[in-house]
Amino acid sequence: MKNYNVLIIGSGPAGLFSAIELEKLGLDKIAIVDRNPYPAGGLLNDGKLNFDYRVGFDIDELQIDRARAEKMMQEIKKVLTRFPRCKQVTFINGNGKLAALVAMASEHGAQFIAPEQWHWGTDNGKALVDYLRGILKKTDFLLGTEVSALECRGVNDFRLNCLKSGKKTSYRTRALLAAPGRSGAYWFRDAARAMNIHHNFGPIDVGIRLELNRKFYDAITDIVYDPKFIFKTSRHGDKVRTFCTNPGGRVRVENYGDFKLINGDAFSGRKTPNTNFALINTVALTKPLSDTTEFGQRIAKQFYLLGGGKPIMQRVGDFREGRRSSEATFNSATRHFEVCKATGSATPGDISLAMPARIMDNLWESLKKLDKIVPGILHPSTLIYAPEIKFFDTQYPTDCNLETNIKGIFVAGDGAGKSRGIVGAAISGIIAARGIARRC
Ligand SMILES: Cc1cc2nc3c(=O)[nH]c(=O)nc-3n(C[C@H](O)[C@H](O)[C@H](O)COP(=O)(O)OP(=O)(O)OC[C@H]3O[C@@H](n4cnc5c(N)ncnc54)[C@H](O)[C@@H]3O)c2cc1C
Repeated sequence: MKNYNVLIIGSGPAGLFSAIELEKLGLDKIAIVDRNPYPAGGLLNDGKLNFDYRVGFDIDELQIDRARAEKMMQEIKKVLTRFPRCKQVTFINGNGKLAALVAMASEHGAQFIAPEQWHWGTDNGKALVDYLRGILKKTDFLLGTEVSALECRGVNDFRLNCLKSGKKTSYRTRALLAAPGRSGAYWFRDAARAMNIHHNFGPIDVGIRLELNRKFYDAITDIVYDPKFIFKTSRHGDKVRTFCTNPGGRVRVENYGDFKLINGDAFSGRKTPNTNFALINTVALTKPLSDTTEFGQRIAKQFYLLGGGKPIMQRVGDFREGRRSSEATFNSATRHFEVCKATGSATPGDISLAMPARIMDNLWESLKKLDKIVPGILHPSTLIYAPEIKFFDTQYPTDCNLETNIKGIFVAGDGAGKSRGIVGAAISGIIAARGIARRC
């Protein structure tokens, strides 16, 4: 059995940046394990980078202050923006139009955040990952290797039981970093439970993705590539925000086996005539049910059932009239639906049949406000896709080094509730690496 000082589960931004930091700190015998044959995690998707301490992570959850977050973002920026195809798309300094947007949003009861943003595009994802992998000189990549179980054999003695090409194999390590992303979050929760690693249920984000002819949103996205509007709804007092805007992008469907979720991305060069963005409502549960995962999955399965195994899409024109969208009238010119041609694969139907009423109220109230800030987004042709759900919900209580209650086991990234995006995942990976270096 091969012995390591540090084993990292997951080759997404949390895993890769932690390995870069561990090498920088002089550690050796490091390996990244990933079930995929190519080390990337979510780095192959779109690649919008938000450099703002309010976006994509929570400084309280990471137990850092704003100054430290900003310093770490600079370190990450230095690495990622050295990749030549990563381009700055939102400029904050000297952007005179931002103040007007902040004022207009506030007039309609919304907060507006404009982070400095960079983008490499889905088509450049592989080249970016090759560039990051090239920085790592001493790290082994154990790819196509699925971790099935974790074992603690004593102080600083852990074993990873894995499957590679159907064969069982094990690795031994002194310290373990779990960065399994959202796709591995539920496997890790079960594995953590078996090892008595403490966890809590955090909030999830449930909502929709809008796709519209880009001419309606260009006025905003020409100023800020991925604008962040945050609403507090008057009816329920809940938080709703825009997220992951893709000017000239496409709507994507993610397959989770017994349900499907909506997402979106964009290429660097080739553009569609549309823009898409998510509008999501933060939902936290207490008693008698705190399991936000179960709640979110039931919503997703309801859409899957009603959409015949696909997500649902509905024209705003139909939604306003309280009727479902149908194949027959989906591209009707008399109803002005031809203005936006769908790029995502979903079933024309009725969003409000599957979405809980409180969430639907919140989303529609926020959309009406947004339509006042950006007139035209609620054109009848605009498409509402659902469900878009972000499961960042399992949180692990850790110390400030992201070490769990089991000494020697650290967590980072989206799958551990420590981030909600590439930059946040990278920050959490670096924090964990520094903690591991102190221990090893
Ligand atoms: C379509 C789409 C577009 C996105 N666009 C953006 C964007 O523009 N900007 C942004 O900031 N974020 C974006 N995101 C989110 C971003 O990808 C994630 O926030 C980020 O990748 C999280 O990093 P991570 O390291 O925590 O996990 P991940 O990147 O998900 O990596 C986790 C890795 O762990 C591996 N793994 C899981 N379980 C196991 C196991 N049991 N054994 C072995 N390996 C395992 C997985 O195979 C995966 O490679 C997008 C996501 C999607 C789906």
